[in-house]
Amino acid sequence: MISIIVPTYNERENLEELFKRISDALKDYEYEIIVVDDDSPDKTWEKAQELSKSYPVRVIRRTKEKGLSSAVIRGFKEAEGEIFVVMDADLQHPPEIIPKLLNALEKADIAIASRYVKGGKVENWYWWRKIISKGAIMIGRVALPKIRGIKDPVSGFFALRREVVENVNLNPVGFKILLEILIKGNYSKVVEVPFTFGLRFAGESKLGKKQIFNYLKHLYRLMRWEGEIDRFLKFAIVGTTGIFVNQFFLWLFVEKIFGKGASLDYLIANILATELAILNNFTWNDLWTFKDLRRAPLYKRLFNFHLAALTGAIVQWVIFIILLQFGIHYLIANLIGIGFSFVVRFLVNRHVTWG
Ligand code: UDP
Ligand code: MG
Repeated sequence: MISIIVPTYNERENLEELFKRISDALKDYEYEIIVVDDDSPDKTWEKAQELSKSYPVRVIRRTKEKGLSSAVIRGFKEAEGEIFVVMDADLQHPPEIIPKLLNALEKADIAIASRYVKGGKVENWYWWRKIISKGAIMIGRVALPKIRGIKDPVSGFFALRREVVENVNLNPVGFKILLEILIKGNYSKVVEVPFTFGLRFAGESKLGKKQIFNYLKHLYRLMRWEGEIDRFLKFAIVGTTGIFVNQFFLWLFVEKIFGKGASLDYLIANILATELAILNNFTWNDLWTFKDLRRAPLYKRLFNFHLAALTGAIVQWVIFIILLQFGIHYLIANLIGIGFSFVVRFLVNRHVTWG
């Protein structure tokens, strides 16, 4: 038994076509359609009830709660099937893809209808919409290493086994329920099935620009949940100890070993002090910040940590030079450069050294 969950808000004119195409696509399956409607002014719920005479449709009309994710979660609670499919009502998600998702589930726990794997695409989007969409996904994949292999982790069209979300505490805030499931769900394998995100059949979109900010907030919440924010703070603390190590050894070398004088001596002292600071930071990050992620051999971790330091330094210099061109004070420019370098170093270490 398959439960198809369709959240709706003012989708009255789409339902008949949607149900017809689902029933054609799923002739060989046993299924139910669960429409979760937030008391739409156009009475989508009424139309759905009417159509339940001809199609296996159940209608949930919510009058108190609102929101896309919470509607899907409600659908999960009501669903009787062993497999759940989530899709939009406006036919931008072609029902003909559902059997492909179900086939994919034979070897996976979650099957995503994906716009961004080979063979998938988006119809009629301006280039800037594509850039925003892909940029947002890229930020998500970098911020949340767990999903970095997934090309379309924010798709609204997917299928999963009941166990993936059963007894999982999903946050109902936000629009990207798939992201929430990919972070918190119980699963081991995800596959992506290409599809073409088409045009709306009728009605208009409810999702606007304010979603970008909500998405970033959602990412932040999930990063906290994953412990990535804690890691970032630990990395910052370790970085601070590195400053002291660096300063101390520079002082030691200059005062006690090389003596004051030739600038080459200062440079050598500086390079040695920097290297000792890097070793200090590596040690604490390895034993503390990333202690659960020590998978690569020690020499590789050490090498990659140096690579991250070098990448960070280059970023710092490039930003410094660019900001100088804009007439920004060199100390401010350096501070901003250090900030960027810090984030870059964290990310390279998180994804490569302890990836
Ligand atoms: N939707 C919903 N509640 C909301 C917003 C959207 O149930 O608060 C439903 C909507 O009816 C549609 C799906 O979520 O079935 C996707 O919304 P929409 O098509 O407006 O988003 P877009 O495809 O433009 O991103
Ligand atoms: Mg839509």
